[in-house]
Amino acid sequence: MGIIHVLSRETSRLIAAGEVIDRPASALRELLDNALDAGASDISVLTEKGGIDLLRVIDNGSGMDKDDLALSIQEHATSKIQHADDLLSVRTMGFRGEALASIAAVARLEITSCEKNSEIGWKLQSEPGKPPVLTPVAARQGTVVTVQGLFEQYPARRQFLKKPAAETLLCRQVFIERALAHPQVQFSWSSGTETSRYPAGSLLQRLSLLYPELPVHLLSEVEIKFETAAFHLVLAEPSFHRNDRRYLQVFVNRRKVPEWGLISVIEYAYSEYLPGGMRPCAFLFADIEPSLADFNIHPAKREVRIKTIESLKSQLYASLKEQLHLLYGSGSMNMAEYSSAPSLAFETGAPAQKPDQSFWESVRTMNETPMREPENQSASTADSAEVRPTFRYIGRAFGPYLLFSIDETLYILDQHAAHERILYDSLLEHPASSQALLVPYLFEPESDDMKIRLESILPEMKNFGFEIEKQHDAFIIHAVPALLGEKAIPAFLDFVQKPPENSKAVGIVATMACRSAIKDGDVLDDFTARELIARSLKLPFPRCPHGRPIWIRLDRDYLDKMSGRNPG
Ligand code: ADP
Ligand code: MG
Repeated sequence: MGIIHVLSRETSRLIAAGEVIDRPASALRELLDNALDAGASDISVLTEKGGIDLLRVIDNGSGMDKDDLALSIQEHATSKIQHADDLLSVRTMGFRGEALASIAAVARLEITSCEKNSEIGWKLQSEPGKPPVLTPVAARQGTVVTVQGLFEQYPARRQFLKKPAAETLLCRQVFIERALAHPQVQFSWSSGTETSRYPAGSLLQRLSLLYPELPVHLLSEVEIKFETAAFHLVLAEPSFHRNDRRYLQVFVNRRKVPEWGLISVIEYAYSEYLPGGMRPCAFLFADIEPSLADFNIHPAKREVRIKTIESLKSQLYASLKEQLHLLYGSGSMNMAEYSSAPSLAFETGAPAQKPDQSFWESVRTMNETPMREPENQSASTADSAEVRPTFRYIGRAFGPYLLFSIDETLYILDQHAAHERILYDSLLEHPASSQALLVPYLFEPESDDMKIRLESILPEMKNFGFEIEKQHDAFIIHAVPALLGEKAIPAFLDFVQKPPENSKAVGIVATMACRSAIKDGDVLDDFTARELIARSLKLPFPRCPHGRPIWIRLDRDYLDKMSGRNPG
């Protein structure tokens, strides 16, 4: 007996529609895309009961005439492409002509639309399974789409919807994504009694309205342009970070996508500033030639395939690294391997306005003023005409901490982190100064992998002061960085033992600095402690190479506040 039969037109339609529209948030996503494609400069969203009862999007875009309105809810009806080839150049959010048809298949749909300079508008009303009705109405330019009773006639689908509050959140997420990608468009949001308005403005303004918890004064806007792609970024100072990727977002051609290649570039560029496992706050908006970015691989266009991703990644990495150094100081990785890319054209946007003076800025300005030498501490400052900031060493606390003050600020310095950073910077500053070993050190790698890895970084190791010769299966260390002397050997062994992903040659510098720095329990005499503080204060970037801050600052205001005292 034959068991195969062809599904009814209505059933197959419903299955296809369900792939595009599975919940209110996906209907909202399509309606917002249509409004944006229509060139709207003002878009309002209204949801009731999570968009299940009612979802409305109002725009002031191009509108549609009577004929287009009638066609708009037909399957595969679109004004955006003609032929398959057009997919290579499409810049609109929509192009498949299936969204309105799919919504019409699963909900009651009402569309009122009016073109510019048109005397009247038209209203289309449709219900699943019934022919649509068109009537003339008075309307202003633009389009109002109202979706009601989603999946009302399809209980099997409706039971998969979450509670209204959860569906509202999903709608809100879609709204935020679109509003963030189009800051030049005014958006409004209304759900229950909650309403909010997002006036057209800069990306930074939009970001801080959508995520009010972000510290705006720590954010900078940066633009990077290459031949086939332009990147607009908002970067947060590394001191603001999280252990998840909530604020690490990538948009390609205005769609938020899980583009892991680009996400990992950002994480990698930030890695030297952040403690292990922490994620930076960075929003990246990539504008990539449509022929290189294919969105036609996911029914909801939630994924993208970028043709030139590998070369884009390395170009972006090099530029981003440079930007981070300009903004937050250097931990100096080797840039040569990337920056030689010929197509690299580099542009820097104006840094964002910073209302407050940031932590790093205050440290930097402070360091520009010459510091009094530590041994002159006891000398009186009264005779000096210029006022120089000077620190007062207070003493040690619990092992690793040194306490000192500058004016009305108390500093608690981590001696290991500070020394580590100083060593790290010096090792990178004086790459050539090496010291010959009296007895060369012979090293035999345990595995072929290790051997190959070591071989590949030998030329770079020379930059850091190592002289290593390969002899058959062994390596002979003839010279080490002068700054560390023989202490460099255990650091070298530590480093080569590490898993391959941490084996960029510059990593040896961090390992050497860490191994050779004074330890938590080391007790420094007062002279050495003062010397360490003075040198730490001159660091352009007061964080250890792993990203931990070197000191904590407590200012007078803060202490007054904590102790409930009124200053003055
Ligand atoms: P697509 O966006 O893929 O073309 P849709 O089903 O979403 O398919 O929309 C079908 C067509 O209806 C669009 O191509 C567009 O011409 C028209 N349209 C839909 N929404 C709007 C709107 N808000 N303003 C103007 N035209 C619209
Ligand atoms: Mg569309």
